[in-house]
Amino acid sequence: MKNTRRNFLKKISVAGILTPLITEKALAYPVITERKLRVALCGLGSYATNQLAPGIEKSKNCELVGIVTGTPEKAAKWKEKYKLQDKNIYNYENFDQIATNPDIDVVYIVLPNSMHADFVIRTAKAGKHVITEKPMSISVKEAKEMIEFCQKAGVKLGVGYRLHYEPFTQEIMRLVKDKDFGKVKFVETKFAWRNRNPNAWRMQNKYSGGGALMDVGIYCINASRYATGEEPISVTAQAVKTEPEMYRDIEETILWQLKFPSGAVASGMSSYATNAQKLSIHYENGGLDLAPAYDYGPLKGSTNKGPLEMPVVHHQAYQMDGFADAILNNKPILTPGEEGLKDMIIIEAIKKAAKTGKEVKINIL
Ligand code: NDP
Repeated sequence: MKNTRRNFLKKISVAGILTPLITEKALAYPVITERKLRVALCGLGSYATNQLAPGIEKSKNCELVGIVTGTPEKAAKWKEKYKLQDKNIYNYENFDQIATNPDIDVVYIVLPNSMHADFVIRTAKAGKHVITEKPMSISVKEAKEMIEFCQKAGVKLGVGYRLHYEPFTQEIMRLVKDKDFGKVKFVETKFAWRNRNPNAWRMQNKYSGGGALMDVGIYCINASRYATGEEPISVTAQAVKTEPEMYRDIEETILWQLKFPSGAVASGMSSYATNAQKLSIHYENGGLDLAPAYDYGPLKGSTNKGPLEMPVVHHQAYQMDGFADAILNNKPILTPGEEGLKDMIIIEAIKKAAKTGKEVKINIL
């Protein structure tokens, strides 16, 4: 490799020394919009309450103007806390009346997984843009219907892949393009947490559509795609139940191996029976580790050249400003429905491979 200035800059940027360049990149968000994006949150559970509402407050270009909830006590509490108008407060029965409300731009669906498709379609029918949490649906079929419906209704559909908006993930995406360490050879990643509440919707297949794979394995799948910059062509997988009684209705632990067209392989693990969270990317000429890799932050990274110093940002605030940019400035959404659909295709292939014990072909495009 020629020792050009560009190569030199590339070399020091991965060691995190080139702070001005990195900071500039992190400032891609917040962006400028003429007015604020007016958001209604649908489903006021843990993620909406503890992450998204504070994220909207911290964002530059969004404001929380409405809610959709099945719990009247929450409606009263949120109305006071966020100074919401009565006309912007809905429940799941009268939700469709949102169609005649000119003061809401976008509805953010933060419901149990199996309810995403129905509420995305109802939102699109009401003529509003819509963001849904991950996993976007519980099947490929539903995900396709959601995309098609939003296209026909002329509304934008986004998926809450918050990591795409934050600097560590953006640096991993840059590395695969600029090849500071050469080509990606192998990705190793895991995400697991001990889910012990048998009554939670996550433990019931009809609400979750599966277990840890749908809930947190999806981060590993998505990371394997952005770390390699490729779409997988086949997968082998193994399902394990160390506690069959606890995880009766859903899968507990799944291990999988995705093959990519370049020959790279991504090995993943998701589980509800233990705690783990790491992304390791092995390149031709080096390696990158991120641990924690998928939390709300701060994420912590290192390469074989030293610590990966990136600005720590509020993921949800950055994500919301990204959505505001796309919706108000009429640009493509960085994490559209199509991104969610690709992960759903891979999830279904992993489940089939684990069930049959055979290598399953994947056709993303
Ligand atoms: P919670 O159980 O904390 O909240 C879900 C909310 O949905 C409830 O509080 C309730 O709100 C509403 N709801 C309506 N019907 C039901 C039902 N039958 N059972 C349970 N709740 C119901 O879940 P989370 O907030 O943790 O997760 C919601 C979504 O967000 C999931 O899809 C999850 O995957 C995703 N998520 C994404 C994260 C990320 O980092 N991107 C992190 C965590 C979750 P109400 O009382 O207002 O009706």
